Amino acid sequence: NFNLARYLMSAPTLAQCPPETGVEVCFAGRSNAGKSSAINTLTNNGKLARTSKTPGRTQMINYFTLGNPEQRIVDLPGYGYAKVPLAMKREWDRHMSEYLQERQTLAGMVLMMDVRHPFQEFDTTMINWAVEAEMPVHILLTKADKLKKGPAQSTLLDVRKHLTEAKADDLVSAQLFSSLKKTGLPELIAVLNRWFAE
Ligand code: GDP
Repeated sequence: NFNLARYLMSAPTLAQCPPETGVEVCFAGRSNAGKSSAINTLTNNGKLARTSKTPGRTQMINYFTLGNPEQRIVDLPGYGYAKVPLAMKREWDRHMSEYLQERQTLAGMVLMMDVRHPFQEFDTTMINWAVEAEMPVHILLTKADKLKKGPAQSTLLDVRKHLTEAKADDLVSAQLFSSLKKTGLPELIAVLNRWFAE
């Protein structure tokens, strides 16, 4: 039950993550992609999103437990603006690729991409690492309300076509999502329930 989500802890490094038991699903996205809003919509809890926006926690790995403490949502830090120094970006890359490769509890990744700007460099990098780790990825094309129905649907089809051409469609799926209009929620919940049940 995603309504029972509670903030657990923030880990500044991989070494400080909770013990590697149970099942975890991570949420990733460039800053401003709508990740906090999506977590908020999923859990029906505005406080969770605010938690991860607390200054100082934005660069951390934030953990939320669901009703069952052995089922966790992991809010990964994002970036996406030129103001991030290259050295910091490299450090982040090293940590994230290691995390996705080594964290045994991770059952999948939800990747937020603004429907108006899909497949930025960050997104492709995350997808590639997840696929290398044989981890399923579910893409939320966020802020779908910003486009009319036709263009939103054709973006979704383009994204799926791109995934098929990249031979990634066995591990990577995609849907439209809007936190504002609360659309796409049942589809997201179905994917998460499948991952948590595995
Ligand atoms: P984060 O940095 O990825 O956590 O992004 P946020 O969830 O904080 O959202 C970034 C901005 O996009 C905020 O101004 C949100 O209000 C806006 N936003 C998020 N989701 C939606 C959505 O579904 N529709 C619209 N129109 N705006 C959204």
